[in-house]
Amino acid sequence: MIKQYMSAMGVQEEQYQNGDFEINTPIDGTVIGKITLDSIAEVNTKIQNAKTAFQAWRTVPAPKRGELIRLLGEVLREHKEDLGFLVSLEAGKIKEEGLGEVQEMIDICDFAVGVSRQLYGLTIASERPGHHMRETWHPLGVIGVISAFNFPVAVWAWNTALAIVCGNPVIWKPSEKAPLVALACQAMFEKALAKFGDAPSHLSQVLLGKTDVGNALVESKDIALVSATGSTRMGKTVGPKVAERFGKCLLELGGNNAMILAPTADLDLALRGILFSAVGTAGQRCTTLRRLFVHETVKDDILPRVKAAYSTVSIGHPLEGNLVGPLIDKDSFENMQEALEKARSAGGKVTGGERVLSDKYPNAYYVTPAIVEFDEQNDVVRTETFAPILYVMTYKKFDDALEMQNDVPQGLSSCVFTNDLREAEIFLSDRGSDCGIANVNIGTSGAEIGGAFGGEKETGGGRESGSDAWKNYMRRQTNTVNYSTELPLAQGINFG
Ligand code: NAD
Repeated sequence: MIKQYMSAMGVQEEQYQNGDFEINTPIDGTVIGKITLDSIAEVNTKIQNAKTAFQAWRTVPAPKRGELIRLLGEVLREHKEDLGFLVSLEAGKIKEEGLGEVQEMIDICDFAVGVSRQLYGLTIASERPGHHMRETWHPLGVIGVISAFNFPVAVWAWNTALAIVCGNPVIWKPSEKAPLVALACQAMFEKALAKFGDAPSHLSQVLLGKTDVGNALVESKDIALVSATGSTRMGKTVGPKVAERFGKCLLELGGNNAMILAPTADLDLALRGILFSAVGTAGQRCTTLRRLFVHETVKDDILPRVKAAYSTVSIGHPLEGNLVGPLIDKDSFENMQEALEKARSAGGKVTGGERVLSDKYPNAYYVTPAIVEFDEQNDVVRTETFAPILYVMTYKKFDDALEMQNDVPQGLSSCVFTNDLREAEIFLSDRGSDCGIANVNIGTSGAEIGGAFGGEKETGGGRESGSDAWKNYMRRQTNTVNYSTELPLAQGINFG
């Protein structure tokens, strides 16, 4: 079945059926592809090719570069179903979420086309007569993208759409758990290139491999920016290595996202927010809701409703109309069980979290989403477990809830459900949420591409996608031009 979709997108069978590295679908564990991983020598060749592409691409006018991304958006529209299907097959996302991820790619293409005509600098008043100052933005160099399994295509598009309009080639190392989608994206990029016409070769390249291949990008001084999405563990290695060679890094790492559910909240709205954020994508979104702080007067009302909703959620094959698909692999299942065991030992009351459908899918890992009730936040709660576990705790005072929310190492997404204007504004204020994303009456997940996406603390501090995230992919230059016949010095200095 995969063949029909791959060939529609332009991927030849020998690219994904002839290698010795097997790709299993999390849906039932069967092998869906066999690829050949890149050697380090091949990585270096690709880096050199990208360097050559940079020399040419940086001189193409930015709006013309935007045209390539407009064409990529067209190709993606044409193949939304094909790529959405492949995302479901390889990452286990339900159909709606696979399609949603491709829509996100289309949206960022549209956004980047607009940006290609808005790479604005500043004009700055000079203190010297007959002088003017300005700030300009220039292409940065080769961009290395390392991505995680759970957003296997959107993260590439967020980076690539902007990097290309900003004048840079991209080399992408997808997750070793989801490399087939990368072959498909590359094939679609090539379709867009064919329509575009005159562009240098190697503007976009894919590296297939594991940590060692990612590390080759990280350590290469020819990679101007490493944009790395994944676990905090990965970021702790990648960040210092890139810093050591004075490269630039954009880190999008783990989250431990929270909701504060206040007494005035619209509970119907909150229930929907909790369900999508905590259970969607089987708890495998960086923005998944992992911690719920409920006001003590609301807990007995909302928690039974959340549990009832959890018990009716359909779990199963992601392309057969279910709401919850599989975990990515056995390791993920074992990590979840280990976290639940620790939670029990720490006095947590656990509901759900069991493996299901193991008769039908002995080589896949489907679980019921878990709820763990704790009296207080503890280190089990402070750790990100990449699975559907929702820790529920109560609070008395809003300030205490805020303090607990911020008392974790990560700082990605957060939200408050309240109809109290003061609480909402405090949550968004300088003493409120310390996360990169803070929402009111919206869950923690499902961000739009128009805003800058990313988080603070151990989430890495990077910002991708909308707003002025394009500046990551450019270098800033300050220019001062003297059009007078004198040479006055700044700060009024008289020198000889
Ligand atoms: P992971 O860290 O295991 O792998 C991510 C990528 O990094 C893979 O391509 C992997 O091969 C590569 N990698 C790992 N170690 C490396 C190293 N030392 N050098 C170079 N490359 C290395 O993460 P995962 O399991 O694929 O994804 C889940 C994690 O990603 C979760 O923690 C989740 O919160 C996080 N995530 C964050 C965001 C975000 O935007 N903040 C988005 C998606 C996922």
